Amino acid sequence: MDSKEVIGSKKISSVGADSAKKRTADLKERLERLLREVAEVEVALSRADGTIRGVPHYSVIEGRAHELGQHLSRLVQERQMGELAASQAPTGKCPRCGKRVQLQPRERTIKSVDGDTTCQELVGHCRRCRRFFFPAT
Ligand SMILES: [Zn+2]
Repeated sequence: MDSKEVIGSKKISSVGADSAKKRTADLKERLERLLREVAEVEVALSRADGTIRGVPHYSVIEGRAHELGQHLSRLVQERQMGELAASQAPTGKCPRCGKRVQLQPRERTIKSVDGDTTCQELVGHCRRCRRFFFPAT
């Protein structure tokens, strides 16, 4: 690598850092806006479906809010695991014999602290060894 390339890559990484900061700020702002909207819809829904009427005990308000938080947690977990599976290599080596095989997506139920959630993960099947395996990360 010559000095011109080094200077060029520094320039690009500086621009990249600025653009990453802007993207992060934009995403935080969008998330905050969406969370506020979700809270607004949740309150309207709790009034519409009759869960919250008049002046309820605070534990009713807190309980319903907590359920919504757990629901959001499960959705985020599913999304994170789905993106993780999508970013993995499409093939994996059998840990026993080393043969490379095509990985297949499989649904798995995960018991999280916020309730059961279904996630996608990639699993390999080696016909030679007649066994399923999870690819090494
Ligand atoms: Zn094998």
